[in-house]
Amino acid sequence: MTTQQIDDSSRFFHGDQPTTCPLCGARTEILLDLSHTISQVQVQKCLDKNCSFEFFAEVNEDDLIPKVELCYLYRDASNYKLFNSVVFENPECIPLAQIESTIRGHLIDGEFFNPIKWGLPKPEFDDFNVEDDHDWCEFEKIAPTEMETDSEVTIAEFLEIVEGRKLPQT
Ligand SMILES: [Zn+2]
Repeated sequence: MTTQQIDDSSRFFHGDQPTTCPLCGARTEILLDLSHTISQVQVQKCLDKNCSFEFFAEVNEDDLIPKVELCYLYRDASNYKLFNSVVFENPECIPLAQIESTIRGHLIDGEFFNPIKWGLPKPEFDDFNVEDDHDWCEFEKIAPTEMETDSEVTIAEFLEIVEGRKLPQT
């Protein structure tokens, strides 16, 4: 591994978008994550073999969110919608953009998920219709919240469930 000098001229702002190399635009990997410390930076390395640029990415303070709300909805075949949301603790302060990209990366057709598989409550109409009913919910958004937590798992654990690395609690 070639070690390039990391100095203040290689500090780049880590915003809402997934981090890309400021030199070549390729995706990067996190070498060292200090975003939970006072320095709030990550050392990132370009994944392009010809580039391998290493740089500091500053973490947006707005991304340090202690609680997040996952909003989703159930839509039946007649287009009636039921909205639901779950509030997770985010003790690791995983950036919102990272949470959203992980969730979006595991949606079916970029929109749907099975709430049971992710350990989430499934909204159901009272007049449950066997013909119209299905298991899929639509992802709506993930947002910062001040509301009471109502999930047993943290958002980090939830993302492990979403990625299939952990089983949902029953
Ligand atoms: Zn690069």
